[in-house]
Amino acid sequence: MNPDLSPGLYIVATPIGNLGDLSPRAAHILAHAAVIAVEDSRVTGKLLNHIGVKRPMTPYHDHNAEDVRPGLIARMGTEAVALVSDAGTPLISDPGYKLVRDARAAGHTVWTIPGPCAAVAALTLAGLPTDRFLFLGFLPSKVQARAAAIAEVAAIRATLVLYESGPRLGVMLAALAEGLGDREAAVTREISKHFEEAVTGTLSELAARYAEAPPKGEIVVVVAGPGAPEAASAADADSALTEALTRLSTGQAASEVAKALGLDRKTLYARALELKA
Ligand code: SAM
Repeated sequence: MNPDLSPGLYIVATPIGNLGDLSPRAAHILAHAAVIAVEDSRVTGKLLNHIGVKRPMTPYHDHNAEDVRPGLIARMGTEAVALVSDAGTPLISDPGYKLVRDARAAGHTVWTIPGPCAAVAALTLAGLPTDRFLFLGFLPSKVQARAAAIAEVAAIRATLVLYESGPRLGVMLAALAEGLGDREAAVTREISKHFEEAVTGTLSELAARYAEAPPKGEIVVVVAGPGAPEAASAADADSALTEALTRLSTGQAASEVAKALGLDRKTLYARALELKA
């Protein structure tokens, strides 16, 4: 066991483009881990080379995870096991959550070494609200499954974040426009690399732009949430108040309707008195 690192599992975020984004702490863990579980040893090998480190790597990806996991879990009892993905934060549209789950179940300590994540980086570029966001990863590629996945989130009041590849971008944007309405959106590309860009517009504008010219490189699409709901009308307020007055006192009815419809309680109270009269 390396004396520098306690045994357990280390989830290490790595750069999504610019190798300068590897944190000193991440580099330290990679330099001292007993073994690094990697998606692709050629990709991680380049990163290790960049920091002048040679450590044993073992493949851990969708196709071998079931077979490899028990061995990794066993090693965590006495050794520091690091997990990386090809780029960005492991577990985010990448393998790893079952490794964390099983490590915890076995009583091992799990540390995270936070760092680059394309979804979060894209949110910082898009200029859309970030107070509530929903990460959707990759949408299904089949037409019906994709439409169903979009319909499922259409009413959710949050900015949406999606991963996509260049060749599928135009079709995916058109499907989003169809399923969500023509919302504001941003196509962010090649984040932290030489050709980083963020192109903003409505979904239909962006779909038209990329329909004939699929872009190269890696892409994250960010889509604004649905607009604010239309304010409740006076008729809506009257009918809600009338119904509430059959069950509640005037004050309680005004409070309930104010909360439900986002309207002013005092105004509703006055109106409730009129309705009663
Ligand atoms: N775990 C990674 C993370 O934390 O972002 C994501 C892995 S997922 C398999 C790969 C997808 O992330 C790409 O297809 C692309 O949609 C997005 N991505 C990764 N690097 C990117 C970059 N530099 N610029 C834009 N999108 C990127």
